[in-house]
Amino acid sequence: MLYKRSSALFQEAQKVIPGGVNSPVRAFNAVGGTPIFAKSAKGAYVYDEDGNRFIDYINSWGPMLLGHAFPPVVDAVIEKAKQGTSFGMPTAIETEIAELAVSMVPNIDKIRFVNSGTEACMSAIRLARGFTKKDKIIKFAGCYHGHSDSFLIAAGSGAITFGTPNSPGVTEGTAKDTLLARFNDLENVKELVEANKDAIAAIIIEPVAGNMGCIPPVDGFLEGLRAICDSNGILLIFDEVMTGFRLANGGVQELKNINADIVCFGKVVGGGLPVGAFAARNEIMDYLAPIGPVYQAGTLSGNPLAMAAGLAMLKTINADKGLMNRLEEKTKYLHNGIADALNKNNITHTINRIGSMISVHFSEDAVVDFDSAAKGNNETFKKFFHGMLNKGIYIAPSAFETWFITDALTYEDLNETIAAIEDIAKDL
Ligand SMILES: *Cc1c(COP(=O)(O)O)cnc(C)c1O
Repeated sequence: MLYKRSSALFQEAQKVIPGGVNSPVRAFNAVGGTPIFAKSAKGAYVYDEDGNRFIDYINSWGPMLLGHAFPPVVDAVIEKAKQGTSFGMPTAIETEIAELAVSMVPNIDKIRFVNSGTEACMSAIRLARGFTKKDKIIKFAGCYHGHSDSFLIAAGSGAITFGTPNSPGVTEGTAKDTLLARFNDLENVKELVEANKDAIAAIIIEPVAGNMGCIPPVDGFLEGLRAICDSNGILLIFDEVMTGFRLANGGVQELKNINADIVCFGKVVGGGLPVGAFAARNEIMDYLAPIGPVYQAGTLSGNPLAMAAGLAMLKTINADKGLMNRLEEKTKYLHNGIADALNKNNITHTINRIGSMISVHFSEDAVVDFDSAAKGNNETFKKFFHGMLNKGIYIAPSAFETWFITDALTYEDLNETIAAIEDIAKDL
């Protein structure tokens, strides 16, 4: 496979864009080589500037649940654009998508739309702090909630120590209000809550983690968090930016039958346009401006093109009763195929899967939290990644990412993927 034009475009881009990319995960720093420049995409495939075709398992990092250039989404956006692209005034379609979202997701009365998952999570914790009149939050190591200051905290070796920023520019003052816990470790959370009595506004979690590979919660973990929150006046925030409208119409709340207090959305809810949202019961949402004291705003929030794309997406998901099942079956088929291919070649691995999310870890231990995810063999992953790329299969250029299965993938595509892995595994 040749990447001549991509390489030339990357050289150009680096002169005017830091690192040549507008989001660092698009760079190939973790795997080596130069990023591939996309030109177009349709269904299960993305095409690059050199004319190469890839079976796509990134899918814009989540949004394209139904495949690229999904016709109802594309048509809705084109129609809307002809009527004007932004007004800074309320529009009917905002209420229409809000009504549909509220009908699909359990335990929410109202929803507010923003422009990204980052904004959704940032606003959700401000709302939680305002509502509870407390300052601290607990997040889990390895969970990603966007790039706002409060969430860029990774260190903090002792469970009870304050977090320290892992990006320059995040102040110690901000970092001290973010406490770090281990995913799937309820005792750890209890200790933190005990040590910070009456100071914690919210626990925020990816209820199925997707940003350290795919890590489902162990039995009882989410239930335990719910109970801790209830007995300590803490709000439970589910960051469903990745899982919302993906693992079930109502996300993990529905899948695991657990109510969160605030839910964050992004990715699928925008159908590939820049959309985020956060939602909760009336008593919490009515704490927001203009009726409540917590301020939150956005010039382009609820943008008509974005709402049109999101509405077309949600309508399709809501109407297609077989969708979630089909996605899960495809993911399971891929899981079995990958496991067979790697086993045949004695490649040590662990595969995690839930619904349409799957991750392959080159590690023999169960991957249940950030530490176990970090144990994977990165050298093997690099070889695997480039092997896949050269066979026309695009997975994320990082060992810590989930693969996203779309409805557009056919069993032929899956078989092609499995055959490629059988081949690659011989040289791993
Ligand atoms: C992608 C993601 C975000 C951030 O969303 P952006 O739209 O990239 O700002 C937040 N939380 C989770 C769980 C995500 O996967």
